[in-house]
Amino acid sequence: MTKFNLGLIGYPLSHSKSPELHKGFLAKCGLKGEYNLYPIPPDDKDALKKLLDLVRAGEIHGLNVTIPHKQNVISLLDELSDSAQTIGAVNTIVLRDGKLIGENTDAPGFWKDLQNLRPDRSRSNALILGSGGAARAITYALLTAGWDVMLATREADIQQAQILIQDFTAQNPEYAKKLSNTELKKTVLDDLIPTLSLIVNTTPVGMASHLQGSPYPKNLAFPKNAALYDLIYNPSKTQLMQDAEKAGMSVRGGIGMLETQAMLSFEIWTGFKIGDKK
Ligand code: NAP
Repeated sequence: MTKFNLGLIGYPLSHSKSPELHKGFLAKCGLKGEYNLYPIPPDDKDALKKLLDLVRAGEIHGLNVTIPHKQNVISLLDELSDSAQTIGAVNTIVLRDGKLIGENTDAPGFWKDLQNLRPDRSRSNALILGSGGAARAITYALLTAGWDVMLATREADIQQAQILIQDFTAQNPEYAKKLSNTELKKTVLDDLIPTLSLIVNTTPVGMASHLQGSPYPKNLAFPKNAALYDLIYNPSKTQLMQDAEKAGMSVRGGIGMLETQAMLSFEIWTGFKIGDKK
């Protein structure tokens, strides 16, 4: 029986939940294997390359990739899936037919878990707070499902949002009609709010270890009959989720996305499907 050598590249990694999740999946499927942490400092490209050589040699069967290497690994791989190519980030590496392939399971992980919120599809307008790495995966998931997406960022991040839009439309010119950006500011967003059926927070504001508070502008109303998904999973209920819930929105935190993207990576490496998360 194959012993699956799996692991995670990132830095730092001490608080990662991935080992616990993947060891649970191995046990659930009755598979032998391990899931190791490979902390590689941001600029150590040699260490990244040496680790990927172990995947090429078949000694490691699969790797997850997290901050700060989701983009760094791309130049060391042979091929990217369509989603990883458009998103511009890889979170899963596998050897297929002798080639190192980069995949992105964050986008389908989010999309599957979002179905638990059943957002109103009569208005398919979503507002994404932030324009960093995770925002790219969420944007891809929503655009490919036919949503219109607006990115709302701090003034300082407007250029980052515009680069995201340029990158996406370079991959698919049709996205130009569905993707736009604005400033994360009450005066700018007031008129847009009633048209929304979904808000997704992809900023780290509200994370237990990071910043307190909410990224949502003070005194900005929440949309009616709408859903809010916060990618943060620690704490399980952020300030933003509490405020949105008080305003009548259905809310969900990011733990389901974390678990679902892990299940999808595990399936890519082992061929074993873990039951869909309800
Ligand atoms: P990232 O690349 O650093 O992006 C974060 C974005 O938020 C950046 O655009 C950042 O702007 C912006 N931002 C930071 N502080 C802000 C503020 N006060 N107001 C408005 N915008 C602000 O990080 P990421 O990888 O996308 O991760 C973002 C969050 O998603 C983290 O909390 C992470 O844990 C979570 N996440 C969860 C999952 C899951 O499976 N549930 C998966 C991926 C990520 P600057 O670039 O200017 O700082």
